[in-house]
Amino acid sequence: MNILFIGPSGSGKGTQSEKLIFKYKMTHLSTGDLFRRHTQKQTDLGKSVIFYTNKGELVPDHITNKMVDDFLNTTCHDESILFDGFPRNLNQAKELASMLKTYSRRLDQVYFFNISVDLLIDRLKGRLWAPVSGKLYHIKTKAPKRIGLCDVSGETLITRADDTEKSIKMRLEIFQKETQPLLEYYDNQNILIQIQAQQEPDQVFDQIDQAYKKQAN
Ligand code: AMP
Repeated sequence: MNILFIGPSGSGKGTQSEKLIFKYKMTHLSTGDLFRRHTQKQTDLGKSVIFYTNKGELVPDHITNKMVDDFLNTTCHDESILFDGFPRNLNQAKELASMLKTYSRRLDQVYFFNISVDLLIDRLKGRLWAPVSGKLYHIKTKAPKRIGLCDVSGETLITRADDTEKSIKMRLEIFQKETQPLLEYYDNQNILIQIQAQQEPDQVFDQIDQAYKKQAN
């Protein structure tokens, strides 16, 4: 099965990805994580995208699509893939469909994380990130056991460079303009599932898990 999580930053995609991957042993493709790893390591790709990622703007499609294509080329195609944060516009969605076709795959389900803007901003402002393990925390709702340190790797937690108020607003505007049209696109293919993402993480996971199991059986 191949599934996609669509939702604005802060809607809980990262947290739910961790849970789903743990339960079903899927391959996780988060373009945001891949870009962050490249910028941390200061690779050529990282240097070419930092201008966009720090501001919260979309990285140009030709760079993003190529990175995804490279990832798919080296992925074990026996496993289910969870696409998280890609595609984010119609051009990327069409590109993904054609990439998947070359591996005789298709998207089976698209989960839309529906959430209010106020709650989003609240969540993003307290978010902390562990660059090496990729784990996400929140100062109020998902605090690490030791202040400022990742529970898994012990590394120092940081605030993402794009979690500023200005960048958060910019990302929301881009989401509404570029990504929202994907909802109609996937609804027309009858693969769109609405998730009430304002609920507690375990309740959100139950919604996803039920829908996933229904499709998998
Ligand atoms: P995320 O962690 O998903 O919020 O992504 C962080 C940043 O990476 C975004 O603000 C964009 O700059 C970039 N990015 C991630 N996914 C994409 C994508 N599918 N298309 C273009 N840019 C992306």
